[in-house]
Amino acid sequence: MSDLEPLTDGVAERLVAWQRADGRNDLPWQRSADPYRVWISEIMLQQTQVATVIPYFERFVGRFPVIPALAAAPVDDVLHLWSGLGYYARARNLHKAAQIIVADHGGRFPQAFDDVLALPGIGRSTAGAILALSGGRRFPILDGNVKRVLARLHAVEGWPGRREVEKRLWQLADVHTPETDVAVYTQAIMDLGATVCTRSQPRCGACPLHDGCAARSAGTQSRYPGKRPPRKRPTRTTRMVLAMAPGGEVLLERRPPSGIWGGLWSPPELAQEDDVDGWCRAVFGDAVSRIEEGASMRHAFTHFDLEITPLIVRLAAMPVAHCVEDGERVWYNRRAPARLGLAAPVERLLAALGAGDLA
Ligand code: SF4
Repeated sequence: MSDLEPLTDGVAERLVAWQRADGRNDLPWQRSADPYRVWISEIMLQQTQVATVIPYFERFVGRFPVIPALAAAPVDDVLHLWSGLGYYARARNLHKAAQIIVADHGGRFPQAFDDVLALPGIGRSTAGAILALSGGRRFPILDGNVKRVLARLHAVEGWPGRREVEKRLWQLADVHTPETDVAVYTQAIMDLGATVCTRSQPRCGACPLHDGCAARSAGTQSRYPGKRPPRKRPTRTTRMVLAMAPGGEVLLERRPPSGIWGGLWSPPELAQEDDVDGWCRAVFGDAVSRIEEGASMRHAFTHFDLEITPLIVRLAAMPVAHCVEDGERVWYNRRAPARLGLAAPVERLLAALGAGDLA
């Protein structure tokens, strides 16, 4: 229960009246106020449409009519009945929770909010929904549909994934939840979000909250709820050794078949922590005359940027003893290039090296 006073702005009354007249009142889990059935339906309805859920729900409660039957079943039977619904962690959690209810609550669905919240797979909104829908207990809910309704009704800015936005929405959910008719109100606000205040093209003309809806009166429905800010793309770094023989040839290696640029050719790569001098000495012996770091370049992959720092290694002579062509390594002559598969950034690096643009 909250410390906040319920609002008396008519929102709850209008929603309750709308639900009684126009809401969904004949769904299979609405036929009784059994918290077990409400629980199963709430879990199935997460991520899944009502029409898809109905036959699954009927089969599930037909096979497991009471919590002890679910708890006693092999988990494979539960998963089998869930086949096709997706998000199978939901089924495993139901099974686990049923066993906890049998062990700790005598097989009866708990009535204390904290006991419900402690069950696997049940968050604050689902716990509130089960107790409100099955027992008319006054707990607010805030699923995705309710977030959308409340964000539009009150023009709540910001992405609900942000803590302060979610906190504000929970406060609103709380103050709108009435003292009476809680079950009808809870069903109403969920149904309104699912059928009227839909993500795209809400049917504001048919909405009981039309008068007094901030987003509707400003024509900004599509702005709420706020979108998730784009994630910053991670940047990975690497160093590539551009070893240049006196004739201008550059050493390339064939990359492993898997991973980025699998099977293509590229200069040898060194991690940030690798010792450049030691590596060059081991590979090129005494042939190294100068090592310098060039200007970094970036390459965009789908999920990250790669920042490549070229290490230009000038060789006084073509090393023979340590670094031979063996089918996995080649001295690549930019003026008479062999037909090798090169990744685009490697081509850019070699072109820049040839043009003297890297240093
Ligand atoms: S008036 Fe429109 S935007 Fe506002 S709550 Fe109703 S359907 Fe949603």
